[in-house]
Amino acid sequence: MLPGEQSLPETILIPDGTAVNRLFAYLCHQADHKVLHDHAHMLQEIQLQWFSMLRSALQCPRCGSNKLIRKGWRARRLKSSRGKISLIVLQAKCKVCDRTFRPLNELIGLPFAVRFTDELVQKSVELGLQLSFGKSAAIVKKLTKGTISAEGLRRKVAQLANSLCLPNLVAGQTVLVDSTKVKAGKKQRGASVHLAITAEKGPKQMGRPSIKKRLLHLHVGGVHRLHNALGMMQPERLVHDGGEDYTAVSKYPQRCRWHLVHQLKHYLWQDGVPHEIRGRCQKSLRDVLWDNRDGQKRLATYIKDLEELGLKKSATHLKGAEKEAFTFKEKGGFAFSTTSPLEREMRELNRRADVGARWSEKGVENVLKVLFHYRLNAGSTNPIRVTELLR
Ligand SMILES: [Zn+2]
Repeated sequence: MLPGEQSLPETILIPDGTAVNRLFAYLCHQADHKVLHDHAHMLQEIQLQWFSMLRSALQCPRCGSNKLIRKGWRARRLKSSRGKISLIVLQAKCKVCDRTFRPLNELIGLPFAVRFTDELVQKSVELGLQLSFGKSAAIVKKLTKGTISAEGLRRKVAQLANSLCLPNLVAGQTVLVDSTKVKAGKKQRGASVHLAITAEKGPKQMGRPSIKKRLLHLHVGGVHRLHNALGMMQPERLVHDGGEDYTAVSKYPQRCRWHLVHQLKHYLWQDGVPHEIRGRCQKSLRDVLWDNRDGQKRLATYIKDLEELGLKKSATHLKGAEKEAFTFKEKGGFAFSTTSPLEREMRELNRRADVGARWSEKGVENVLKVLFHYRLNAGSTNPIRVTELLR
């Protein structure tokens, strides 16, 4: 069996243990026991070798002396998905100041704070990115022999979020930004999550086009942090939904064409346009915006028509976007002219963030940041290695 694999609890599937199931459970238990026993012995041998090799280089943490002698063994207990394992760690004593300590902890990968094996943390975190921490902890307990508390899992995710290093923007890439509300913080309406990703067309997968996305920035709170982050990146091409002015941070801002059509409906409603006509207006705007040849000219006419009909709000909406509606055509090099590659991510975001309870802003930011780093950045130039991140 692989680490962490486990026969399901008998109560779920199996009527009172048949012989073969009992045998299986027995063999698993015996195999674990034997493997652990043999390897614990090997680990001891390694430590003895290391100690004699490194002796002169090892120092007392209190007085710095290197006059050290061996002083027995200490057991370290670690939680793994196959239950608690006990590892024996070499102990040394300083001949000058009498301090006892375990000089090889760092070398073995067992600094004092480590209480879990990485595989248990990895499994728990992956669950915690999909489900509430409480549910994840309950599932870990049910399907493995390890345990982690909901609070312990929250702390691991926070630790991961703090140690993440998001990729840099590569020149020429198109940046897409968007935001959505999540139920977090003190305000009744919740708090905003702001996201910036890059997107480009990827190779075909099973005959269907794919999109390569990378998370550049994610935070929960005021929009200024997004502006600061973009200010540092200076993306040339940026697509946004019009909620903010991005001319200061991007050379060529482009209004998302899909959002322009979608948002029109609201303004038409404010202008008192009846429901059945609103849909037709949206459709004709769509035709205009997707007309790559004469679109800009036709948009000007469209706005003029709205003004003449007295539909002020709708006209203002499009007038504000007129300059940025066809940037992609004038400047070229845009991978996308809508934020639609972000929509799927937004759905995923809402699915995880919507857990019924109210989050703290930092709490939901941590989960979402790690979630999207796993979703989008894994396999990029900096593959994710929990082991390194958590130490
Ligand atoms: Zn000492």
